[in-house]
Amino acid sequence: MATAKRIAFYDERFRAARVAPGDIRTMADISHVPVLERHDLERLGIAGLRSPGSWGVRATSSGSLGKRVEFLWPLEQMRWLDAGEERARAWLGSELGTWRLEVRCRPVGMAQALGAALLNATAVHAPSIVDSGVAQRLLRELEHRRPSMIWGVSNALYVVAVALLDEGRTAPAGVCWSGGNLLLPHYRRAMEQAFQCPVYERYATMETGLVAHECPEGRSLHVPAEGILAEIVRADGSPAAPGEIGDVLVTCLRNHATPLIRYRVGDRAMAPDHNHCSCGRGLPVFGSVAGRTHDFLRTRSGELVGPREVVDVVLSVAESVVDMQVIQDAQGKLNVLVIQRDSAHTESDRERIAGFLDRLIQPPEQTRVERVAQIALTPGGKLRTIMSLADS
Ligand SMILES: [Zn+2]
Repeated sequence: MATAKRIAFYDERFRAARVAPGDIRTMADISHVPVLERHDLERLGIAGLRSPGSWGVRATSSGSLGKRVEFLWPLEQMRWLDAGEERARAWLGSELGTWRLEVRCRPVGMAQALGAALLNATAVHAPSIVDSGVAQRLLRELEHRRPSMIWGVSNALYVVAVALLDEGRTAPAGVCWSGGNLLLPHYRRAMEQAFQCPVYERYATMETGLVAHECPEGRSLHVPAEGILAEIVRADGSPAAPGEIGDVLVTCLRNHATPLIRYRVGDRAMAPDHNHCSCGRGLPVFGSVAGRTHDFLRTRSGELVGPREVVDVVLSVAESVVDMQVIQDAQGKLNVLVIQRDSAHTESDRERIAGFLDRLIQPPEQTRVERVAQIALTPGGKLRTIMSLADS
């Protein structure tokens, strides 16, 4: 906060909120600090958020939810992030230098491919997986040598897993680390089967890097707290109660170039009902990621229904469905796109999905369910299971 006070934007906000760096003595005190919104970042840009005399690598967020935002990543932050990432992978049994396959949100150019190769990793841009040639090349590579870890965007890894399983094949890996998008139950099941290994969740954002990662022993998500402070809060910024779903706020403790303090990253998560993980490690426990803030369906009575809940029930009643997207328009109507395997039940499955969603959401008109060959991905290669334009 002392660094942030040298930036006019923060200085004014702290004054308006009557809070000074010396006032923050305990973790609970941070709830007095104003929340940084995404539109603040859009408006300020690097020029408005940069602390005097600082420098760093210019980074941008993906822009999948509107305007791109720019910020700096100083060397100190990158070192702490790299260390946190490596520790997380080591917990899962994948040591630095062993062969890893990475399916990334960010484009993989010559420089990124070379950087990955130097660490004995093969890096692929997630959207390229929809190209069956790329997917087949990956499958051949996976069958040729066993990676210590397969990690990356969950829906892209799922495509590879389904391609294997549909051919009755598997490609064993040491471990699978899923991130970039929610780890939905059908993604986890298919990856476990196809890669013959446990699958763990990774939660990161483009602006802050790794926020939390699943523990192999206790199965909690741990926050690499040396560099990140993560909160789950109500609309007024106060902490969510255990089991309550709130907004995720992240404070980057190692970015003195463009400080992000209580940044509302645009995700919702459920606050944990316990503060300690059974593994005994001291890193704080995060809770569970519920989804992007705009990726919830709104029922007629105003309740929010998240992607995990929708997918879990839809897939249990419609076996032919490989993947899906539910779009809710501004009036609350639902249009569902489904990728289906050929089966005798494709049509009846679509009817069952429509009936289920009509009962759950009670939209103003009957839900339409359409079979498609592909579902459009975000520029980072993510499949948004729910896209909602309904008032929130
Ligand atoms: Zn643990």
